[in-house]
Amino acid sequence: MKKIVVFCGSSLGFNPIYKNAAIELGNYFVNNDITLVYGGGKIGMMGVLSETILNKGGKVIGIIPALLKKEEVVNPHVTELIVTKTMSERKILMSKMIDGYISLPGGFGTLDELFEGLTLGQLHIEQKPNGILNINGFFDHTLKQLEVMVAEGYLKQENKEMLLVGNNVSELMLKMYSYIAPEKSAVINKVINHDHKL
Ligand code: AMP
Repeated sequence: MKKIVVFCGSSLGFNPIYKNAAIELGNYFVNNDITLVYGGGKIGMMGVLSETILNKGGKVIGIIPALLKKEEVVNPHVTELIVTKTMSERKILMSKMIDGYISLPGGFGTLDELFEGLTLGQLHIEQKPNGILNINGFFDHTLKQLEVMVAEGYLKQENKEMLLVGNNVSELMLKMYSYIAPEKSAVINKVINHDHKL
């Protein structure tokens, strides 16, 4: 894996355990020659992660939509900064560029990006590993919600299992490296064939 996109909070959170997780992941990227692709910010978890990597000589590509590119927000030290017209353009560019997705603790933006990646996987538009770093059980309630969705018939168990969960960096990275995407189901084939005919 050469490039991984990391989604994480533009806030730091109250507990320093989250900031330390961002530092640990940053160190892993540098030690394993993985380029970080991220939202380009210098604030919150995004700032800690990108600065950790840059300070140790690692590579960071920031992709930021023009509307967020303000001086107080954007990290001017990144190896490469790409400015997109829209949030959607940024997501497409990110997903084309990378070999996998990781989400750290964050808010709405982070969850939006996490689930967009999972949706692309579910539709077999791409088959890249997508994992969360469940530090301090931060994502326990999100995972519980997924169980409810399976139990109530809105999410297939095999699609739920696309989401890789690591309680620490090495556990997560091991799962990322050994990920095998689920088979394209008959239902999806039907939908795709139907779409092609339209
Ligand atoms: P949130 O989890 O709501 O703090 O949003 C964080 C996610 O949304 C990041 O992964 C970014 O891609 C995007 N984002 C939100 N705020 C910013 C910002 N100020 N600069 C760059 N990206 C941002």
